[in-house]
Amino acid sequence: MDSAFVRLLAVAVLAFLPGLCFLALFRLVDHVAHDELVARVERGEFETESPPSGATPTIDPASAVAAARDRETAVCPSCGAENRAGVDYCRHCLSELR
Ligand SMILES: [Zn+2]
Repeated sequence: MDSAFVRLLAVAVLAFLPGLCFLALFRLVDHVAHDELVARVERGEFETESPPSGATPTIDPASAVAAARDRETAVCPSCGAENRAGVDYCRHCLSELR
């Protein structure tokens, strides 16, 4: 009688546990989707922010060439991308390196 009850309990747990896990995951995803950060992105608060002048991440080919000479890399003269030393073509723009 006692083992029958244990078996019934195990079947009940195994039957309802996946559903409960799914509901918990659904609630978690729903909670994450209504996060404050997501709400701020949806309101467009980040699109109006302009990066400060002078901090734009541009690559200066001349300084990149000078910096890459110390690290045994070949810098593309046309796009400034760093390539391994000894290669013939740029991996970024495919122009000839020498
Ligand atoms: Zn290149």
